[in-house]
Order: sequence, then C-alpha cells, then structure tokens
Amino acid sequence: MDLGLALARQEQGASRLDVLGAMIRKEQLKSKGAMAQRILIVEDERTIADSLAHTLKRERFEARIASDGEAALVLAGEFKPDLVILDLMLPGIGGLDVCRVLRRKSTVPIIMLTAKAKEVDRIVGLEVGADDYVTKPFSMRELVARVRAALRRQSMLAQPSDEPGFDDGHITIDLAKPSVEVKGKPIVLSPRELSLLRALLAHRGRARTRHQLLEEAWGSDEYIDPRTVDVHIRWLRQKLEPDPEHPQYIETVRGIGYRFGR
Ligand code: CA
Repeated sequence: MDLGLALARQEQGASRLDVLGAMIRKEQLKSKGAMAQRILIVEDERTIADSLAHTLKRERFEARIASDGEAALVLAGEFKPDLVILDLMLPGIGGLDVCRVLRRKSTVPIIMLTAKAKEVDRIVGLEVGADDYVTKPFSMRELVARVRAALRRQSMLAQPSDEPGFDDGHITIDLAKPSVEVKGKPIVLSPRELSLLRALLAHRGRARTRHQLLEEAWGSDEYIDPRTVDVHIRWLRQKLEPDPEHPQYIETVRGIGYRFGR
C-alpha cells in the first residue's frame, strides 16, 4: 500500500496513525521474511543447542536443532539450511562423517564446534571440508560473528563477476565459469579453495600475507586462525602443482605469506 492509498483510506474513517502503523508492520514482516536465513544446529548437548537456537532466533535467524548425526542429515534435506553449525562429538554418526556427507551434496557453509585443537587441520582441510571451526568453550557473540561472516562469504561467492583467467598450458583457470583444469583434466575445487585462488591470482606475482588472504578469500580475518590459510594452500597445491612438495605456482614467500608466482 502506498502513502496515497493510505491517505485515501484515512478519509474512509481509519486514523492516519492506524494506517501508517499497519504499513510499517507489513514492511517489517516483509523484511523479516526476506532476511530470515536458516541455520541448522547439530548438537547433542541440549543446553548448548537450546542457547544457540535462542541466540540465533534473537538475531533474527530461523534455527532448528538436530541432536544426532542421522537427524542432521534428514533435516539438512528438509529444512535446506543456509548454514550448518555442527558439533564434532555426536552419538551415532559423528560430526566429521556428517560434514563429509553434506559436503558431497552441497556447498552449504559448515562451522564445526570442537573441543579438540588437534582436529583442526582435518576439519578445515581436504579430508572433511568444513568452512570454519570454533573451539569449545566459545562465546555466543563470537559464534554469531562467525555465522554472519560465513554467510557473507557465501553470498559473495554466488555473485557472478568478470574476472581474468590463467593459462600456461599446464593449468587453465577460468574464474568466471568457474573452471580449473590441469593438463586438460577438470579439477574440482571447494568454494574456499576457489576464493583463495581468486585472491592469489588477483595479485599475480605479488606476495600476500595470510591476513590479506583471509580478508580477501574469507571476507574477514576476524576470529579466523591464519593456519586455516596454510591448510587450504596445501590442499590447492596438491590439486594444481606438478610436484606439491616443490611448488612452482603457489610459492611460499618467507616472512610474508604466499604468491601466485607465474
Ligand atoms: Ca557433543
């Protein structure tokens, strides 16, 4: 309803404030509907799951809880979450397996909750493919910040753009498609690997620090461990380099970070 129509209704007896109030409520409902992103919480500890759901709802997300791995896989199909918060230690199918299965089917951002620092490499690395992790105990504020950052990165990835490619006969990269081939064979990169490659190629021949790469490929360097960059660089090298132990494309620049050298 536009203001003209609202004012016309006013003449039919409704007070101007009533009409404006109704218009504002309608707009709020509309924007709430458009903004409510769905978060699936997979956590068997009821108090943690409930307080997460409560916090996320207060932050205007729609939240559902699955208390084991099987329920998580079923709900992932039905609820179609925009993001998954996934506990590592679950009864039945464990968090790592849930993550692997979800990853096979979709690029939904996955934030893992873990009490085990030594699992971090596996969680964000090639083996499991989570986007981020938070170690327990965590603050709700930190977790919500990570959720927002992951959703922002996902929406940036979804935007098409006009980007340069790379082709030297061994590697062919077309970031607009996107497609990456090594010796003519297509290579599957995760969304994060692709954005890291994009960040390196955008400054070809120049060294980038881990923090710059986090900023460009993850959308933020807040709360993200710089070691995450190293894990993804290793994984990219394994996919792209003829000899990953002696990289020719993604070079380590001592004391700084990394460079797409060619
Ligand atoms: Ca647990």
